[in-house]
Amino acid sequence: MLAKIFTLDLNFQGIPQTIASYAIPFDQGLILVESGPGSTLPELERGLVKLGFSLADVKHVLLTHIHLDHAGAAGWLAQQGAQIYVHEVGAPHLRDPKRLIESATRIYGDRMGSLWGEFLPVPFKNLHVLKGDGEFSIDGLVFRHLDTPGHAYHHMVYIFEDVCFSGDVGGVRLPGPPFLRLPTPPPEFDIESWRSSIAKMKTADFKHIAPTHFGIFEDAQQHLSLLEDTLNAVEQWMEATLPQVPEREALRESFAEWEYARCAVAGLDEANVHAYSLAMPLGMGADGILRYWNKFRAA
Ligand SMILES: [Zn+2]
Repeated sequence: MLAKIFTLDLNFQGIPQTIASYAIPFDQGLILVESGPGSTLPELERGLVKLGFSLADVKHVLLTHIHLDHAGAAGWLAQQGAQIYVHEVGAPHLRDPKRLIESATRIYGDRMGSLWGEFLPVPFKNLHVLKGDGEFSIDGLVFRHLDTPGHAYHHMVYIFEDVCFSGDVGGVRLPGPPFLRLPTPPPEFDIESWRSSIAKMKTADFKHIAPTHFGIFEDAQQHLSLLEDTLNAVEQWMEATLPQVPEREALRESFAEWEYARCAVAGLDEANVHAYSLAMPLGMGADGILRYWNKFRAA
């Protein structure tokens, strides 16, 4: 790594190392990859102050996608003047987050505020809309972006020097014993496009991989192999299980059992398992797999 990249721990729900924001200093302040949720803005500020910066130094925010744990605070930062980079399909929802908030409220109910905080709109003039694969530069620093669906249709990964910021399409991999969880939420989890995205990442040249959940890992190619194996394992589990278990609650239980067994084999302790469930809840994972099955495979 040539440039300095800082990993900010947003201490989501008081649990360390589950949601990261990455900060890259440049001449005029800071570039962030992911804003984190609105609820962790105070934690983001604390992290920046420790590094000798403040929220006012945040000039650019690169979002991998617009889910609340990645993009919730983007509107607030934009209203302080930051430029927000996002996939073209996600952009309209940042300008007007009404539908995004409504669908999240259907899932989280009255826990919405305490979990995620406020999701403010991003003003049009602060939006930097990205299409397909390409690159852009900020004050001479070059960022490549790859259109990488699978977790969500509107997902970008960013490559800066030899680091890939992989959002959620790179999987959830937390500090601790080697393990990777595939984040498969509804409504856009899609096995085929995820597989193509992994292939695309494998041919892009980088050494380090930094999933938002959590940290910069040095073994990018091994990580991508583990990701591919995990995607295959989820697909096999789905093909073996779904034809017999069409009922949602039973499927959720069965999926959790399967995933806990994988955690045990990997040697995760209770705290590790809890952190993984905070970064990617298993019930939601099962719902996404069921939705994919019904949409593409059931017939
Ligand atoms: Zn996420």
